[in-house]
Amino acid sequence: MAEAIRDIVIVGGGTAGWMAAAALAKVIGTAKGSITLIESEEIGTVGVGEATIPPIIQFNQILGIDEDEFVRETNATFKLGIDFVDWRKPGSRYFHPFGLFGAAIKGGVTFMNYWLRWVQLGGDPDCSRFIAEAEAANARKFGRTSPKDGQLPRVNYAFQFDAATYAAYLRRFSERRGVVRREGRIVGFEQNAESGYIEAVTLSDGARVAGDFFIDCSGFRGLLIEGAFAAGFDDWSHWLPNNRAAAVPCERAEDPTPYTRSTAREAGWQWRIPLQHRTGNGYVFCDSYISEDEAARRLLERLDGQPLADPKILRFTAGKRRLGWVKNCLAVGLSSGFLEPLESTSIHLIQTAIMKLLELFPHREINPVLIDQYNREMDKLYEHVRDFIIAHYKVTERDDTPFWRYCRDMEIPDSLAAKLSLFEERGETHFVPGDLFSETSWFAVLYGQGINPMSYHPIADAMPEDELQLKMAKIRRAIKQRVETLPSHAEFIESCCASRTAALAAAN
Ligand SMILES: Cc1cc2nc3c(=O)[nH]c(=O)nc-3n(C[C@H](O)[C@H](O)[C@H](O)COP(=O)(O)OP(=O)(O)OC[C@H]3O[C@@H](n4cnc5c(N)ncnc54)[C@H](O)[C@@H]3O)c2cc1C
Repeated sequence: MAEAIRDIVIVGGGTAGWMAAAALAKVIGTAKGSITLIESEEIGTVGVGEATIPPIIQFNQILGIDEDEFVRETNATFKLGIDFVDWRKPGSRYFHPFGLFGAAIKGGVTFMNYWLRWVQLGGDPDCSRFIAEAEAANARKFGRTSPKDGQLPRVNYAFQFDAATYAAYLRRFSERRGVVRREGRIVGFEQNAESGYIEAVTLSDGARVAGDFFIDCSGFRGLLIEGAFAAGFDDWSHWLPNNRAAAVPCERAEDPTPYTRSTAREAGWQWRIPLQHRTGNGYVFCDSYISEDEAARRLLERLDGQPLADPKILRFTAGKRRLGWVKNCLAVGLSSGFLEPLESTSIHLIQTAIMKLLELFPHREINPVLIDQYNREMDKLYEHVRDFIIAHYKVTERDDTPFWRYCRDMEIPDSLAAKLSLFEERGETHFVPGDLFSETSWFAVLYGQGINPMSYHPIADAMPEDELQLKMAKIRRAIKQRVETLPSHAEFIESCCASRTAALAAAN
């Protein structure tokens, strides 16, 4: 019988480390082995990473987390999508929602084709009117919907939360389930001379922590995956030139919006992520086009509340570790690569890495077939996300600064070029199982940034025009009704936090 992995060591206690610890503690447990997490307060964490995408709901469900408690504990708000401002050109705006575009129409082709035909017949070209999340975001409303709600469309969502309280929340969750946290700075590692497997890491105080399997969550430095295995790095900065971010929280100026805002700037873009207690802001930029000082200054000028700290500068290179899993070491989080936060995908990539590890969980002697499978699947996912992010820069009418002219003129990966051609031809992008971003996402972004498909699928012409008009009116009515049923976002958050408010009142 193959021997089971008993002792797991997680190197790093940022979002990646604590997400890994929580999931392993919940699914594998600590009854038959140990899970140890080592982190260094002296080194610290990246500490940003506040906007997410809907699959995080499944992660919470796997952990068995009560969502209201989660919202209370992490100062979270709800996110229906991203409001993109000035991306197509200054003064433009579009919404990338987490939902479905329209509704299924019997006939063999997707709603988009019918909608494109309807627009040609004189319908409203604002596609967000056929997306429940976009309409709810516009009305600043939010509520949880259920499949039992009859004919009305669902509202898909994710969270915006405080990265520091999220890690702290997962830490409490993990420690309650037997994960052992060790404070200390790792200064070395020991590898088996024959197999090359890591056997232990050593700490600056001389302690040695041994394990069967090591999860490298050490951040950009990739302490083990690069240090022990020289896994290599695919540098994608020619496609994604942004390499810096200035981040600063500010006071909340209004009720939190149920969406993140991304505003294109002269040399990158600025995020605005509303939380319950503050607003997170950052300017993601390329230092060849604007200096760190200038970017920080511009960020401070463009806040909608008083800054709560000095801007923090983060430096990165877009790309992916060539191998995310080598021998008995798996890189999760920033140690496995980084794609800028434009579509809030990093936490999702952490989640996917953890879920794939659990799916392919090896024995102590690791069959390379599992490693190859993992690396292949993660490569595909990274490339898919990469292409989606590049598309935002490439498909723009902006040419007002050297940064935007570079983006407009840059070469793009063949995989993206093929997608853009198909979309220009007839609004499709060819969804492949395993893709993270749906056809609705691609449509929202590419159409929002100015590609107007030349045609649609001819099958959409088979429906008589009056029937098409009736169907579109019915779908639109259902979306309006759905939004009318929702409370305001602020009221909904209040209801999630009601037990905290009651506890505070009782304590006073
Ligand atoms: C500007 C920016 C904005 C972002 N925004 C988003 C977003 O909106 N949404 C999203 O999903 N993601 C976002 N991310 C990504 C997100 O922040 C990261 O994916 C997430 O924080 C995971 O980081 P990590 O845990 O991999 O690394 P880190 O946070 O860097 O943690 C590394 C850990 O390793 C430990 N460590 C390192 N070296 C040693 C050592 N020698 N000994 C002991 N311990 C060590 C550190 O102490 C720390 O605990 C953003 C990232 C950046 C840079």
